[in-house]
Amino acid sequence: MVGIIGDPVAHSLSPAIHNAAFRSLGLDWVYVAFPVLAEQVSAALAGMRALGITGLNVTMPHKPAAAVAVDRLSATAAALGAVNTVVRRDDGLHGESTDGEGLLRALRAEPGFDPDGRRCLVVGAGGSARAAILALAGAGAREVVVVARRSEAAARAAALAGHRGRVGHADEVADVDLVVHATPAGMGVDRSPLPIDPARLASGQVVVDLVYDPPLTPLVAAARAGGATAVNGLGMLVHQAALSFRLWTGVDPPLDVMTSAATVNSSP
Ligand code: NDP
Repeated sequence: MVGIIGDPVAHSLSPAIHNAAFRSLGLDWVYVAFPVLAEQVSAALAGMRALGITGLNVTMPHKPAAAVAVDRLSATAAALGAVNTVVRRDDGLHGESTDGEGLLRALRAEPGFDPDGRRCLVVGAGGSARAAILALAGAGAREVVVVARRSEAAARAAALAGHRGRVGHADEVADVDLVVHATPAGMGVDRSPLPIDPARLASGQVVVDLVYDPPLTPLVAAARAGGATAVNGLGMLVHQAALSFRLWTGVDPPLDVMTSAATVNSSP
């Protein structure tokens, strides 16, 4: 058994993605969503140990608490202070973060973008933004500009990219090769204004909106209208799931099956 803890978690696509993968490979595994309150994260991980649950994904808002509650952290999870994947091993619970690598793999798969040597801008300074910033710098981005409404959070996030990270302004979206939007603006019924002006985006630029509900997000639609190549966050969701799947099972993840399950189960 594997699963996901979060609050809320009922809307998560992860059970559909992983259970489709298990079924397609004939693996006798199951993935369950566990709603867990903030004050119960440590107890939930203790329960994981006691029950012999092999692995857990951790989603909002528990990623930092999980980083404190596990026995060991990967270098990435330690740098981020956040865990999205827990693996139960003989020597204890290992905390990993597959979000950033998931983003890189999604970018390379579609639209076929490699950040090496490129100018990148990340909008937001929360958990997913921080994972993106660290990953883009690690993948050789020439610079990683961070745009966020709280300047202190932006500076802390930009520091994850070392000398290639800096805090910037929303107008700079016009000057970069890649824009990663990592705020909830445009998600579901959220109609708050986008923190960047999509009219400044143009052909030759790549835009990834980490939002994937609705599948055609306001940013993706506007960026495409201006000629940019734009994708939503479903690819990152699938690739971070695939990385977790491999950590738990040791088996090659069936990416096509996982992508289909994510697409079919995301709202129209
Ligand atoms: P966090 O709450 O950790 O961070 C959100 C960030 O967005 C903060 O910097 C916050 O600023 C900022 N923000 C929130 N609302 C607005 C707004 N209206 N205008 C400008 N800035 C805003 O969230 P996550 O980083 O975990 O998630 C962000 C988005 O990414 C969500 O939509 C989530 O669903 C999606 N996501 C997608 C993933 C995928 O695999 N595709 C993985 C993880 C997340 P402040 O601190 O000032 O509030």
